Amino acid sequence: MTTTVHGYPRIGPNRELKRASEAYWAGRVPASELDAVAARLRRGVWETLRDAGVAEIPSNTFSCYDHMLDTAVLFDLVPERFRTPDFAGDDREAELRRYFAMARGSDDIAPLEMTKWFDTNYHYLVPELSPDQRPRLAASTKPLSEFAQAKGLGIVTRPVLVGPLTFLMLAKPAADAPQGWRPLELLDDLLGRYAELLELLAAAGARQVQLDEPILATDDGRAELVALERAYGRLGELTNRPEILVSTYFGSIGTEALEVLKRTPVERIGLDLVAGPESVDEIAAISGLGDTTLVAGVVDGRNVWRADLPKALSTLGSLLGLARGIVVGTSCSLLHVPIDLDAETELDPVIRERLAFARQKLDEVVLLGRALSAGDEGIAAELERARASAPDSGAFVNRRVRARLDALGDDVARNGHDQRGAARTDDPPLQTTTIGSFPQTADVRKARADHRAGRIDDAEYTRRMRAEIDRVLALQEDIGLDVLVHGEPERNDMVQYFAERLDGFVTTQKGWVQSYGSRCVRPPILYGDVSRPEPMTVEWITYAQSRTSKPVKGMLTGPVTMLAWSFVRDDQPLGDTARQVALALRDEVSDLERAGIRHIQVDEAALRELLPLRADYHADYLAWAIGSFRLATSGVADTTRIHTHMCYSEFGRIVGAIEQLDADVTSVEAARSHMELVDDLAVAGYKRGIGPGVYDIHSPRVPTADEIEAALRDALRAVDPGRLWVNPDCGLKTRGYAEVEPALRNMVEAARRVRADL
Ligand code: GLN
Ligand code: ZN
Repeated sequence: MTTTVHGYPRIGPNRELKRASEAYWAGRVPASELDAVAARLRRGVWETLRDAGVAEIPSNTFSCYDHMLDTAVLFDLVPERFRTPDFAGDDREAELRRYFAMARGSDDIAPLEMTKWFDTNYHYLVPELSPDQRPRLAASTKPLSEFAQAKGLGIVTRPVLVGPLTFLMLAKPAADAPQGWRPLELLDDLLGRYAELLELLAAAGARQVQLDEPILATDDGRAELVALERAYGRLGELTNRPEILVSTYFGSIGTEALEVLKRTPVERIGLDLVAGPESVDEIAAISGLGDTTLVAGVVDGRNVWRADLPKALSTLGSLLGLARGIVVGTSCSLLHVPIDLDAETELDPVIRERLAFARQKLDEVVLLGRALSAGDEGIAAELERARASAPDSGAFVNRRVRARLDALGDDVARNGHDQRGAARTDDPPLQTTTIGSFPQTADVRKARADHRAGRIDDAEYTRRMRAEIDRVLALQEDIGLDVLVHGEPERNDMVQYFAERLDGFVTTQKGWVQSYGSRCVRPPILYGDVSRPEPMTVEWITYAQSRTSKPVKGMLTGPVTMLAWSFVRDDQPLGDTARQVALALRDEVSDLERAGIRHIQVDEAALRELLPLRADYHADYLAWAIGSFRLATSGVADTTRIHTHMCYSEFGRIVGAIEQLDADVTSVEAARSHMELVDDLAVAGYKRGIGPGVYDIHSPRVPTADEIEAALRDALRAVDPGRLWVNPDCGLKTRGYAEVEPALRNMVEAARRVRADL
């Protein structure tokens, strides 16, 4: 019996990768320094895994930015615009200059697009492919050099590669590719290069290689059975190659794909038994995996809870005999969880007892491996400890919350939109507003840090925040916006702010997880029943409203987004947890209304991103997602405007869901796909207020009044003026005033011009 993990966090226990890459980008350190940090981080991971007793250790799970980008570079699938003399030369500086230009753009070259890695909060760079591209192995092959580095340390690793199907299916056709051409058409060519690479790895001494194919957990991936058979049939046939592990995760892959893989000569299949527990039945349904070894992902790589060891053991037990062998593993790479629970010194011991971060998960994998080979006796003590702290101890139950939710039931909707219409026939045309946050200046950050560290007291902190709110309000009045915001200076992050104020959540000190490149986030942990001890935003918003005669919009984060950007308890359905968060928000919404706030925005930035990978699960998800939003927002009078905001642009797929949220106004990220949104809305017969973001806040560019005017006129084709709102496409927090101020002035000017013509 043996043990492994699919991958391990790359950022370093103290975010060393972030610091080193940012220093390199700023020109403060040379490439050699970044490379030295990277080499140390890799070594640290391999030694950690080895010392924990993990038998089979992966390599090439490190990346200076992103593993999809690494794969594109590995096969020289680099778009033309990065092939200029600027990036020429074989030296490491030139190589890195091009690599980071692809990731982050340069003065005049747009980077690759970035998007979410399946349904995780990790983001990858989208390769751009076209039919005339010829993949070839790059001169410096990262998987080989990292394998050699580990081997030099006496650790023979299993190099990890993004599999050919996943790589091609996550890529997009380059702008110049013919209509209808799919990157998957490069498969045969690319397989030739994978074959070369596998042979080189074998020659270097690799006994195994891991090809990651999470795409098989999606509907699209499951449909590509012919390509799957071709890919692994062909790689399997190679004579001088390492053993192949085809590793899948984020869901089950279905019996058809299992059968195909079973037929091919690959030696091992990795399955995610946490996100896809039905895999066990699927294996049984095809009478086992025959000659293939199963890497059984029983330890959750996506969440922070300690494994239910007895349950994991019984799952493993039920698989014995259904494969040639069983390897105990994590459900997916540990990239998605914080590194080490031992770094947390302030967690309540009762909560801590239930947690396992990446480092602790290694122990669980090793323990399960031992139990499987030596029998339960090997781990009797640990099993006993696990039973003693089983999550149903009831310690985190809030009976009041549960009783209130039961009493409320599902029927919480306020008057339907049509009836509410009577309360607001006088909505002015093209009202201007913003999404909530204003630039977080150094002063604002410093005030928060000083307060947190106790360097300034509550009174001084309040004074500074109020001064900032006054400043932001004065600016908005001067610019001439219609519905104002307080600017969110008191919020470090739209989820963490609320998590810190709700019971049932804890936040960590060092629980960083990579979001993309050097950006890391620290998701809160939702461990128990959620409730609101006291109002969370009312003081700030009512202060703001007291300083202006214009309406001030209250700002809250919605239940789905609270869940999407946290680690969430897994002992009850997500929908039940969402309802608890929604109830707390419902109280906050009522308090805001009672305090005289007439516009309340409940952000559901993550509504689209939590949509399950497989269509079979969409209806169920949307039902609870929509239900929780309505629970949060339906306690108000017809005259109070409920707004929502979503960071997502392809609305075609969820226009219906937006309608059902029943917000009075929905603002969306549409700056980059304006026409599409307007068309989607027209087709769907959408009749509520809509604020299609009129410019892209993700870029420092200041939009002109002319282009915003054109966008608004365009939107008026599908939306009548009283329902059209004018706003940027997301919060302004990450921008500077030098861009924000002129951009908002142009936006207000554009709205004026269009209104004048109505
Ligand atoms: N109200 C939030 C803000 O403006 C919304 C951010 C988001 O959508 N990601 O910052
Ligand atoms: Zn947004």
